Amino acid sequence: MSRPYNFSAGPATMPEEVLAQAAAEMLDWHGSGMSVMEMSHRGKAFMSICAQAEADLRELLAVPEHFRILFMQGGGLAENAIVPMNLSRGGTVDFVVTGAWSQKSHQEAQKYCHAQLAASSADSGFTTLPDPASWRLSRGASYLHLCSNETIHGVEFHELPDLRALGSDAPLVIDFSSHVLSRPIDWQRVGLAFGGAQKNIGPAGLTLVIVREDLLGHALAICPSAFDYRTVADNGSMFNTPPTYAIYVAGLTFQWIQRQREGDARGVAAMEQRAIARSQLLYDAIDRSEVFYNPVDRAHRSRMNVPFFLREPGPDGAAYARFLAGAEARGLLQLKGHKSVGGLRASLYNAMPLAGVQALVDWMREFERTQA
Ligand SMILES: *Cc1c(COP(=O)(O)O)cnc(C)c1O
Repeated sequence: MSRPYNFSAGPATMPEEVLAQAAAEMLDWHGSGMSVMEMSHRGKAFMSICAQAEADLRELLAVPEHFRILFMQGGGLAENAIVPMNLSRGGTVDFVVTGAWSQKSHQEAQKYCHAQLAASSADSGFTTLPDPASWRLSRGASYLHLCSNETIHGVEFHELPDLRALGSDAPLVIDFSSHVLSRPIDWQRVGLAFGGAQKNIGPAGLTLVIVREDLLGHALAICPSAFDYRTVADNGSMFNTPPTYAIYVAGLTFQWIQRQREGDARGVAAMEQRAIARSQLLYDAIDRSEVFYNPVDRAHRSRMNVPFFLREPGPDGAAYARFLAGAEARGLLQLKGHKSVGGLRASLYNAMPLAGVQALVDWMREFERTQA
């Protein structure tokens, strides 16, 4: 039985090997006689699973020693409040708004700090990124927030800005929910990175926070203890019960990434090569087409999330319905665009094989012929 190709933006496709391993270990983890789900989070077995997951993530992303890795809950949306509660000190925070997710972050932060709009690409319909040289940076800002890959609008910062070169001492905060582990991170430019696991890692319920040690310990008094980074870090992410099963499955995914090779590249470097190959295959097919188009500035197109549209959707978008029905019949699932932008979207995360993208491109060609 072959599995369909799942292009969902999240929760999203996972490596079949990881699912098979989780299934094989479901009833009895390593001779313990227990499922990981049944284990005490403070017992030796789970503590080893958690420590290994953290060490593997640190290795994969080359996270320096002076950064802490926190396993939290609440997802990206909760972090929109938790980050300003921990880092803003109630002062000014700069936001670069480049799509739906950074827009939500900017709005939520207004409850906790003076959230300043440093730059926005709203005028372009979020189809490009504002040039960092044009950002209006506040003096003494507690941090600057950006979303390094906009999952809905399909724009990605392929290079993170160097805020020091722009004359700012503010730490950079990135929401890397939808590209984490698809490319290396330049930690010299980052103060904090956060993201939910359900896009590119594993099951929903786990939120990653990777934060520079010196940024801990400044939470506002109203910050819930369970969301105070200092408290979470001091307790090894076990101040309260962590999402144990999600951490375990994420750990299996980290090990899967460590095993991947593309030529001389391994781990995240191999993931990056595959992300480039998958996205190029799809963007090339879209750009060559007279039926489909992608509105995003080529320099800033996302390698993970590709929104695309029909030039002639027909009355009530009938052509979209036909495309989606044909896709589903071919085992190409979850290609409907986000409701706020419409059209189509293919999410091409680490677990999506190139063959899945090829199958999508084949269907697009066939659809084009029937349109003509
Ligand atoms: C999905 C997503 C979120 C929201 O995550 P939740 O886990 O639903 O809170 C935030 N930011 C980005 C970039 C996302 O893709």
